[in-house]
Amino acid sequence: MPLETGKYKNVSISLLSKLEKITATRDFAAIEHSLLRAIGSTVNVDDLSLWTLDSSHEVTKVLHYHRQIEVRGGSMGRDTEQVDTVYTHIDVPEDVRSLAQTVVLSLKPAARRTATGGVQMFPLMGSQGLSGLVSMRLSQPMGDHDQALINGILRVYSNYHALLDESQRDRLTGLYNRHAMDLNIDRMWSVLGRESTQTDARRSSVIQMYSLAVIDIDHFKKVNDTYGHILGDEILLLISRLISSCFRKSDPVYRYGGEEFLVVAGADTPEVTRALFERVRSKVESHYFPQVEKVTVSVGYTIIDPVLSPSENIGRADRALYCAKEQGRNQVQSFDDLLQRGLLQDMRYGSTELF
Ligand code: GH3
Ligand code: MG
Ligand code: MG
Repeated sequence: MPLETGKYKNVSISLLSKLEKITATRDFAAIEHSLLRAIGSTVNVDDLSLWTLDSSHEVTKVLHYHRQIEVRGGSMGRDTEQVDTVYTHIDVPEDVRSLAQTVVLSLKPAARRTATGGVQMFPLMGSQGLSGLVSMRLSQPMGDHDQALINGILRVYSNYHALLDESQRDRLTGLYNRHAMDLNIDRMWSVLGRESTQTDARRSSVIQMYSLAVIDIDHFKKVNDTYGHILGDEILLLISRLISSCFRKSDPVYRYGGEEFLVVAGADTPEVTRALFERVRSKVESHYFPQVEKVTVSVGYTIIDPVLSPSENIGRADRALYCAKEQGRNQVQSFDDLLQRGLLQDMRYGSTELF
């Protein structure tokens, strides 16, 4: 049968429309959802998962796609699709884990029969190598045609993802840029808002608090003035790597301004949060930099209040950073501690700050 006719014609038109949806947005979460929808409806799979991996192949996030077609009175009814995202305490079933080991090594699709049918898995390639895995449960083995379709969808997705990723990264440091932060922060807030309204039982299984920090290199103008811009750039790059090494891949560091970085990080207690940022400060302080030898950073942070807007929370971290600078630099200050100690006042009620 010629490709343009019958069933294949419909598949190509609907596939094109799904690929168009993947490339219609600039938002990473939205393109992941579109990818799962494209695969799920193209090959008629009801349950599939996208496992995001870090560079050591640990799972950092998983998206579960589930499709349900209601059958009413013998005829097909409403077709509903749902995507759930899990960031913490990710449960990887044993059959998925063992198949993943094969795919991680071979970088090729693989399948395994199980008591309840089978699992089919595909590697997802990123610009730095393997970036994820797509797994699906099937009642019978997948045919060559469907495998080829999925491989094609994944390749288009990977190419688009790489382009998008490149456009959101800062050229010097490779960190996400301000533009990426603006795009991501609203979505981050909707997730934080949802978590903060969950019941206590549910919350005990997720990270308890998130904090937002602004990290600024101390007296960096002097470094440029004394040693030149080229060495300044090199130090900026080294510091960005030192800072990133302190956080998980799921807590991205943004280059917020010239020599300023912003990070949103999860931690269980205020003490752990402080220790995290203290580690950033001391790691930079103890590093030996070429020519300049010693460079330091100041950190201002706040425990995120999701009821306030992102810019209000950034404002709080900025005010804490200002205090750190005023009090001698090379230190970590918390907005919440300063507030408690009466060294800052909450501006929400129209009061003025002391520093
Ligand atoms: P403070 O401790 O108060 O933060 O002092 P500072 O000198 O770091 O702050 P200031 O805001 O006065 O100066 C920031 C400097 O950062 C000025 C600018 O030349 C430098 N800078 C910003 N972006 C870059 C960059 O991409 N490369 C280099 N080499 N320098 C940069
Ligand atoms: Mg500075
Ligand atoms: Mg600055």
